[in-house]
Amino acid sequence: MRPFRLRFCALFCVIAASVSGLGAQNPELDLLIKNGHVIDPKNAIDAVLDVGIAGGKITRVAANINPALARRVADATGLYVVPGLIDIHSHVFYGTEKDAYLSNSDTAVQPDSHSFRSGQTTLVDVGGAGWRNFLQFKEQVIDRSRTRVLAFINIVGSGMKGGPVEQNLSDMDAKLTAMRIREYPGVIVGIKVAHYRGAEWDPVTRAVDAGRETNVPVMVDFGTHTPPLSLEDLLLKYLRPGDILTHMYSGVSGRVPIVDESGKVRPFVWEARKRGVIFDAGHGGGSFLFRQAVPAMAQGFRPDVISTDLHTGSMNSGMKDILNTMSKFMNMGMPLQDVIKSNTVKAAEVIKRPDLGHLSVGAEADVAVLNVRKGTFGFVDVGGGKLAGDRKLECELTVKGGQVVWDLNGMSRPMWTEMR
Ligand SMILES: [Zn+2]
Repeated sequence: MRPFRLRFCALFCVIAASVSGLGAQNPELDLLIKNGHVIDPKNAIDAVLDVGIAGGKITRVAANINPALARRVADATGLYVVPGLIDIHSHVFYGTEKDAYLSNSDTAVQPDSHSFRSGQTTLVDVGGAGWRNFLQFKEQVIDRSRTRVLAFINIVGSGMKGGPVEQNLSDMDAKLTAMRIREYPGVIVGIKVAHYRGAEWDPVTRAVDAGRETNVPVMVDFGTHTPPLSLEDLLLKYLRPGDILTHMYSGVSGRVPIVDESGKVRPFVWEARKRGVIFDAGHGGGSFLFRQAVPAMAQGFRPDVISTDLHTGSMNSGMKDILNTMSKFMNMGMPLQDVIKSNTVKAAEVIKRPDLGHLSVGAEADVAVLNVRKGTFGFVDVGGGKLAGDRKLECELTVKGGQVVWDLNGMSRPMWTEMR
């Protein structure tokens, strides 16, 4: 079989080369995305324009770029062209360790199997690895993925393995956590605190200490505490501006919800936003209720960032993917432009990666082309409740570093009849 396969591959490569030669002779652009409605909040662009890509970078954003200049042209008429989406809360430390929850386990998701089909070019794993097993995560996942994978490392040295491992205060070391972050600047972009059930504040204070030493944010999944720890103290005393409360619309017993019994967003939650605490949707399999989100949205308390909390449980229930989650917010009244902003330039700002989340000339060419489908749709929360909606996002094309990595309807491809 091997010689045949090699011959087939060689033949295919020749065909591919001739197809890519169908465009201009010495093209200035590798790919031209034409006539799409570009939403690039960082550059205040919200208009029908063309986007030119060459050498893996954005090289031109302008009206009426001549298609003869491009090797490949994708017609995005009627579609939205946006920066590649960033998911600041996912779980992608997949592996084969038994009973290891989201740290080298099969509850986590292989990044490329999920990212590109929903317009994502950057996934941030939050807490899968701690300082002890980050190198394994890097070698096993980060280095092997085409998706850009970044990490918030867990304040627990062994990472998010569930059970007693995550309750072990003696494995929460600010110094060693900071040491690991300093070794991988820009890849480890934050620190995660999650699932601690005790009465102590130590997981939070140690994470904040490490964050202060390394100038990265802390993300807190406040979990469940019996009796509940004070959410007000967390938001107003312990977290710094730029730190993140994830699962903002959760309604689990053991954590104070942001919307009180009378349906009002609590005053201290508004105060926290004013002082710069970041609120992240973090949908997940148990952390997003319309009962919380709808009244909060009606009062103007929107998410700063709309993340998935991706794992095999959430992707196969109400969350599904980032576009389904973003669509929920559109159907709760958030304009498309703001939804895009939250998962591009705002997400990049939160993780302190200003090189990402925009289509500036010179930026790495991470682009998503999205369709806003109109029709009758249903969106389900973690309690099983449904919201009816009339708009739903779908990803037509994803480009990562200038390469087409997802093309739902072949918009960047020639007709087969034109191929030799
Ligand atoms: Zn999570």
